[in-house]
Amino acid sequence: MFEVSCASCQSSFEFNPDDYIHLCPFCSSGFVIDAEEGAKDLIGDHYIVSSNIQKNNIEDIFNEWISKRYHRPERVKAEFSILGSYGVMLPFWVISAEAHTFWSGHSAKQTRYSGQTRDMASGFMKEEGRFSRRYRWCILARKSPKEHWGMERLHNPKEKLMVDWDGFPLDESLGAPDEGMQSLYESKQPFKYELANEIAIMGIQTKELSAVTRAKDQINEYHRRVAKTKIGTLYEHRTEIEVIGLHVVHIPFWIIRYSFTPKSVFKYFTTARERRLLVQGYTKAVLDAELPLNSSDKVMTNMLVCGTLAFVSLTLSVFLHPIFYILFIMFLLVVVLSAWKIINRDKIDQELVKGKENLEPLR
Ligand SMILES: [Zn+2]
Repeated sequence: MFEVSCASCQSSFEFNPDDYIHLCPFCSSGFVIDAEEGAKDLIGDHYIVSSNIQKNNIEDIFNEWISKRYHRPERVKAEFSILGSYGVMLPFWVISAEAHTFWSGHSAKQTRYSGQTRDMASGFMKEEGRFSRRYRWCILARKSPKEHWGMERLHNPKEKLMVDWDGFPLDESLGAPDEGMQSLYESKQPFKYELANEIAIMGIQTKELSAVTRAKDQINEYHRRVAKTKIGTLYEHRTEIEVIGLHVVHIPFWIIRYSFTPKSVFKYFTTARERRLLVQGYTKAVLDAELPLNSSDKVMTNMLVCGTLAFVSLTLSVFLHPIFYILFIMFLLVVVLSAWKIINRDKIDQELVKGKENLEPLR
């Protein structure tokens, strides 16, 4: 085991080879060690957002969330229990940037006047436009976003488009704080271990340069997809990104594990026994959750019930009256449609509310 001495207070502490910025547990300074010369460089722009959640708030937060979502709130106490929870301070590179996008393309819109015949050649219209947005784009400063559940997709854009990046705009992704409180970003303070409120602080592993590159790539891709929503066929897209500022911020999150043991007929149709919830430590917003009954559980129930009814109808049509054959066909149709829905089910459950009180992006 190696030790390293702090660049500020000279105390020695354990050297972690995975860390890019070394954090002194005695004076909270952060510094980078030059791999070749061994020189230590203190970093300045390091902040922390303190947690508004403590272990004894977890039950209230969970009960409030589940009571709003479960169709039988009076059964919540009997059917749900919290298995465990932990808080974690995760480091993010926060890149302040302005992005200016120009796009052009052809729309398939037909602008026809009465009496005019359809003209395929001139029916398409060329369109172009520009838009600009300002972000505080967050990139996790850890080697893997999979260490903690729910951290891989925190961006929840207003536009109807698919997100396959792990970065996110800070001001609109982590929920809104209680009324009268500062925004999450404004509440940050210069980094001090004491401000973590005994939540584990994760080390800073990735470099700022790779974070800036990834943020630019993600914003570029996001703007390309936004431009695509404005036009039938996108021909050209250019986004210029100007980086205005960069700092590293430790932000608190809580992960809650809970179990669901339904007392109703649903108990035969739920598969997973353990589910998870990701809660923002400052705003207390539920950012991501595994629901007690997801839509495929419901479709599965539907399929089994209608399957039974189809069988009964078929039996009745044979022994009682052929008219039941029509019912049989109807129930069978529902079964086939349900099965088809399960096979093609969406990976994203639309009922998931991610940071629902989104703020308007800056313009
Ligand atoms: Zn120190």
